[in-house]
Amino acid sequence: MSERAPPSSPVVTRLAPSPTGLLHLGHARSFLLAWWHARSSGGRVVLRIEDLDRERCKPELVDTCLRDLEWLGLDWDGPPVVQSRDTSPYERACAELLAAGLAYSCVCTRAEIAALSAPHAGDSEQRYPGTCRGKWTTLEAARSSSGRAAGIRFEVANGPQLVRDELHGERAFDVQREVGDVLVQRRDGAFAYQLAVVVDDSRQGITDVVRGSDLWSSAARQLLLQRALGFAHPRWWHVPLVVDEGGERLAKRRGDVALAELRAQRVDARAVVAWAAASSGQPAEPRCTAREVCARFDLRACPRTALVLSAATLAGLRAATQ
Ligand SMILES: [Zn+2]
Repeated sequence: MSERAPPSSPVVTRLAPSPTGLLHLGHARSFLLAWWHARSSGGRVVLRIEDLDRERCKPELVDTCLRDLEWLGLDWDGPPVVQSRDTSPYERACAELLAAGLAYSCVCTRAEIAALSAPHAGDSEQRYPGTCRGKWTTLEAARSSSGRAAGIRFEVANGPQLVRDELHGERAFDVQREVGDVLVQRRDGAFAYQLAVVVDDSRQGITDVVRGSDLWSSAARQLLLQRALGFAHPRWWHVPLVVDEGGERLAKRRGDVALAELRAQRVDARAVVAWAAASSGQPAEPRCTAREVCARFDLRACPRTALVLSAATLAGLRAATQ
């Protein structure tokens, strides 16, 4: 596995909030786990604001995100990277893929793709059927001959791709069958999440990605992009999500689990930290700081199944005021 960072290198993780809604207890747990994983071994933490999706991001929430992280007792090294402030690294990566013949222009609308492709079983994502593959060599040619705006797709080979997760082991994903050729730049010019993550993980020197298990299938798409761009891939740790008693993952619109709301109610952040630690198999006092958990932290102790946030647990947290 020559692509992987050697085990002797110090751990570098990232906190990557997206200002599309208020951060909640599920995010708090994932961010704490990422931070503990780095800080418990003397590693570094970088902060990245993932705000490239102009339709969904609310710039006024960035400050709230930062206050939430500070409230939890998390810190980071260096200034935050705000993706929208400089998109030239993503532009260069797209140009490189196009020049290498690994990507192509696509002029299809979402509605056209939806009409051509049944959603993949158990997945709401549409599979792109490859309509524009091989049609044009440049964006300009695609625009002038179609009379439409053009995006860029990364060509994905057929067949399974093995992805190793440090908590769960190996799993095969067939990216072509699941989503088809991966969008790296949208027709409105916005760079896609998958591309931006890969570029930023590389330029920020990320060795370990700790994030929610809903993103495991994304790791396969990212691995293919990393190979195409000549980047090393990080170690992936996909931590199980926090769900409610009905088994639904916590939603950003749900106020009672929002960190900003808990802060406003003067909840003691140390109770939230202790809940996140104890529910992740880490020894913790009933109230403790993030720093106090570092001494005996081991990410491998994290349970592999979803964490249910019961109404009683939530009530207990909300009552743990200062
Ligand atoms: Zn197309």
